[in-house]
This record gives sequence, C-alpha cells and structure tokens, in this order.
Amino acid sequence: MQYSEIMIRYGELSTKGKNRMRFINKLKSNMKHVLSVYPDVTVQAERDRAHIYLNGTNYQPVAESIEQIFGIQAFSPVYRVEKTVSAIKKAVQDVMLSIYQEGMTFKITGKRSDHTFELDSRELNQIMGNAVFDVLPQIKAQMKQPDINLKIEIREEAAYLSYENVKGAGGLPVGTAGRGMLMLSGGIDSPVAGYLALKRGVDIEAVHFASPPYTSPGALKKAQELTRKLTKFGGNIQFIEVPFTEIQEEIKDKVPEAYLMTLTRRFMMRITDRIRQERGGLVIINGESLGQVASQTLESMQAINAVTTTPVIRPVVTMDKLEIINIAQKIDTFDLSIQPFEDCCTIFAPDRPKTNPKIKNVEQYEARLDIEGLVNRAVSGIKIIEITPQATDDALDELIDDLL
Ligand code: ATP
Ligand code: MG
Repeated sequence: MQYSEIMIRYGELSTKGKNRMRFINKLKSNMKHVLSVYPDVTVQAERDRAHIYLNGTNYQPVAESIEQIFGIQAFSPVYRVEKTVSAIKKAVQDVMLSIYQEGMTFKITGKRSDHTFELDSRELNQIMGNAVFDVLPQIKAQMKQPDINLKIEIREEAAYLSYENVKGAGGLPVGTAGRGMLMLSGGIDSPVAGYLALKRGVDIEAVHFASPPYTSPGALKKAQELTRKLTKFGGNIQFIEVPFTEIQEEIKDKVPEAYLMTLTRRFMMRITDRIRQERGGLVIINGESLGQVASQTLESMQAINAVTTTPVIRPVVTMDKLEIINIAQKIDTFDLSIQPFEDCCTIFAPDRPKTNPKIKNVEQYEARLDIEGLVNRAVSGIKIIEITPQATDDALDELIDDLL
C-alpha cells in the first residue's frame, strides 16, 4: 500500500491567538515553496491541521523535506481507503501485517467524522480490532501506550489510516517574525546564523559582498549554493550581490593596514543597513562569534556596530566553533562552506588586524574616504536573484569544476 497524504500538526503557532490564520497561511505558502520540487504534491491548510496530498509521489523524500520546515510540530503519513467496512478491514489487516513484530501491542483509535457512516467509533474499534486478531491471533491489545496505535478516521470522502508520528522541526513559520538581512559570506558561521534566524520565523534575504576580480565567480556561486541550502527550511530566498571592489581598493589605498578590517566591516554594515531600509527589513543578522578571530572582539564589534542603530542579531555569537560546525553539518552546509574559495575579506586581510580599534582613529581614517559616494555606488550596483529549492546537483558540479 502507498501513502496517499501526510497530515501536518502545527507547532508553537497554535498558541498565537488571533494571529493564527496569518501563521497558518504563511506556513502553507512555505510548504508550497519547499515542496515545489515535487510537481504532483499539493498542499491544503486548515485551522487545526494541514494535509499534503502525495498524488502518487514517493512518501520518503517528501517526508524528509517536511522534516525541515519550521512551524511543524509533527506529522503522520496516511493511507486513504475506500469508505466501506470491507475495504477498511482489508487495509487494517495489510497495515498491521506489514508493521507487526513479535511481542508488539496495539490499539485501534476510530473516529467517525462522517456521522452517516454505518459504524460509530466504538463499533469501528471493535470490528477493526477483531479484524486484526483474525490475521495476528497472538497480538495483544493494550489501551495505554501500545506499540502500535492505528488511527482510523472516517471522513466525508474516504477513510484514513495512520499509525506513525514523526517529529517536525518545530520553530515558527519563516516570515512570521518579519524580514531580516543576513550577511552571508562563504564561511561556516553565517549560513548557520541564517538557519537559526529562519527557525524563529525571520524571513531572511542574503546579502553577499563580492569583489571581482579579486573574488572569483566560483566564490559567488558558492554563496548562492549556501543560500539554496537554506531554502529547504522555509522556501525561496532573495540573494543580493553587492559590488565591493571599489570600496576595498579605496580602503587598501588610504587606510593603515591595522584598520583595514574594521573599516571594511563598517562599510558592509552601512551598506547592508541601507539595503535593509530600502527592502523593508527590520534587523541585520550576521555570523560573528565572539573571540573566534582577532576581528571578533567586543571592542571590534562595538566599532563596527557603531554605524547603525538597527538591531544586529548574532545567533552564533556565544557558540564554540564545534557547536557551530555541528549545526552546519546538520543543515548540510558544512562541506560546501569548507570548499576553498577566497572571500572578499580574506584577500585584503592584514596578518594582524587591530583587536581593539579606537573609534577616534576609525573616524579619522574614514574622513579620507567619500563614504556617501562609495555606499551609494555599491547600493545602486546590487544584483538580486531569487534562489529556489530546485535541484542543486548541476550547480554543485559546476562549482567543483571551477575548483579543478
Ligand atoms: P563566516 O564563517 O560566516 O564567514 P567568519 O568566522 O569567517 O564568519 P568573519 O570573516 O569575521 O567571520 O565575518 C564575520 C561576519 O561578517 C560573517 O559571519 C558574515 O556575517 C559577515 N561577512 C563576512 N564576509 C562577508 C561577505 N563577503 N559577504 C557578506 N557578509 C560577510
Ligand atoms: Mg568568513
């Protein structure tokens, strides 16, 4: 027998009172986006639960996709059966025979949503329970915590059987918390930061600084593929490429090496903030982790953050590198992140960046630069593409080719 649909139980959003429908609609469109790789699958969302109709699509890959979507507490694969006592009996027996292992206990939980059906739920439990004993005479019924709880629901159009309960990703539907700009490099930390922001419902847009010809098309593609890895949690993500070459050359030319990192980061922050403002974002998200590299001291963070009053969320700031790597592996970004492509920050990076930049010095060096003009030109040169969850194999192959 093949599963016909997947029943979705909502997570935390159940507690959100009058916002409930807004949450559900968001989750529905996220599910549609993520599942768009399966053309036959359709999604229907109601107040209490959602249904994903497989229409012949294999259950397993779809389930793996669903396990990643935020806002889902749990889900169950369901068999659809013709609504006659004999068909249901046969299905119950087939299912039980396929999952029974020695010593297992069971119960039937019948529910008659269609009250015109000939059996009420008590009769349903009894008759279907007996049908199980007919094919598995040795099995024991157990009402409390049985190994198998086979649920039968009689609805208008058909009967539905399910026995499995799969844990979902939890979190909140992506987009329900508003929009944030993720500063996405090609490194390990920022994709993890993006994932954690998505988990709490933030609709992220990826902002990536590229400095061609110092950075290669491969480095850009890597950032886009990392973004694609993040789409499986909530759907499409806008990828914003910022031309950063002019700014890096200017800084390299006019600023002492020790302050190069600080000034570069302040420009990134200013530009990201401008893009945020233009695109209706509420926060900036980055992958800074305290003490990880010389530039990530509290003094440095303060100097960089001083260019804006916009909240900057740093989801991995207190994590150890190994904790971050664990998450990167779980979300499948790690192998991509460690591919050796140059980042715009590393190419000009001095051996010893200032770990405690003085704001007075920062301002003095910045006075040598046309900040407004540089920011304006970078912002007006951005390129935006929409990244979808579609198959990444070809793109990844190309990326590897670039490396060889
Ligand atoms: P990551 O692993 O995310 O690259 P990192 O440990 O290498 O981080 P830094 O290089 O100091 O740390 O960068 C700190 C943060 O600045 C990054 O996590 C990212 O949010 C942002 N950032 C760095 N380079 C870029 C870039 N080229 N484009 C966009 N954001 C960037
Ligand atoms: Mg980096």
